Amino acid sequence: MIYLDHNSTTRALPEVIEAMAPWLAERWGNPSSVYGFGRSARRAVEDARSAVAMLVGARDEQVIFTASATEATNAALHSAVCGAPSRRHIVTSQVEHSATLSYCEYLERYHGVEVTRVPVSSQGEIDLDQLDSSIRTDTAIVSLIWANNETGVIWPADQLGEICRSKHVPLHLDAVQAVGRIPVDFEKCGAAYISLSGHKLGTPKGIGCLVVSDPCRFVPLIFGGKQERGHRGGTESVPLVAGFGRAAELLIASGLDCWKRVATVRDEFESYLVASVVGVEINGGGSMRLPNTSNVYLPGVDSDALVIYLDQQGICISSGSACMESAIAPSHVVDAMWHSHDRACESARISLGRDSAKEEVQELVRLIKLFCEINL
Ligand code: PLP
Repeated sequence: MIYLDHNSTTRALPEVIEAMAPWLAERWGNPSSVYGFGRSARRAVEDARSAVAMLVGARDEQVIFTASATEATNAALHSAVCGAPSRRHIVTSQVEHSATLSYCEYLERYHGVEVTRVPVSSQGEIDLDQLDSSIRTDTAIVSLIWANNETGVIWPADQLGEICRSKHVPLHLDAVQAVGRIPVDFEKCGAAYISLSGHKLGTPKGIGCLVVSDPCRFVPLIFGGKQERGHRGGTESVPLVAGFGRAAELLIASGLDCWKRVATVRDEFESYLVASVVGVEINGGGSMRLPNTSNVYLPGVDSDALVIYLDQQGICISSGSACMESAIAPSHVVDAMWHSHDRACESARISLGRDSAKEEVQELVRLIKLFCEINL
């Protein structure tokens, strides 16, 4: 198998699985128990919290573990809206992950919250003046994606933070695709919240976290026991939390240098493809992008059919967001950039991992070319 869908999920690292194993097997105590068997589990949770906090330049107490980045994102929006009942407006963008878009729809539908979805340019960039003018005196939160999961386009977090700070409105940044690939410093970016997902960073699925600038003012989404210092009810999954901590340590140790090579492989892929298939364009290619992501427009090619064909050849890529489970919906991100349903249906995402090789993308280009020759 050639796996080129790392923005969807990536392999759990052997070191992470190893770090999780004792907490799955013999050390199964409850981290809230007072006896030693529980206290050692608590220590594992707190060590992991420190590692994740260090990864993103936050303080330990600012990290709240969740079951996913989706939950973390929901929790950020929930906290901001509940914490400021007189503010009934949210600003987001048209190119967010469904974690943000769906929760905004829920707030609109069931809680009468007004939502402004800022459009983007054809290169996937957000207009900072338009963002600025969308923020109102009753805006409870601005929620934006730091690095887009479909195109890899990176937004200037510091400037987004600056705008929101000047308007005294909290900013949530969906940092799921940014963390581990570009420098992420919670303190510096000026966000009030960032959300992270473990399974993009080398843990199994089922763990994420929300980093909160002012935990004292955080309004929980999930109520129950007083876990996570009262910020999220429910017994922590010690194995997954410990795995998240180990993944964070490994990322801190390895740094970001490996992505330089990956960016070269990605750029070579795009050059080969443009040279091999007539009319190919790179969605967001003119913008600052993640080093591993390529979103290609193949005029006249049904990207879902391409994905199925490549799957039969042993290659995994995606045509939209993998989180749009079973819905063969064209990319809302490409649609928002180009206002073209056809272009959205004819675009595919390739996302490389740390170890993706030149030979793999060469094989991908060969097969895309073949598919185009057969189908066009
Ligand atoms: N935000 C972005 C940008 C993502 O890419 C994803 C997952 O694909 C999520 C949020 C949701 O993450 P999780 O799977 O942990 O809920």
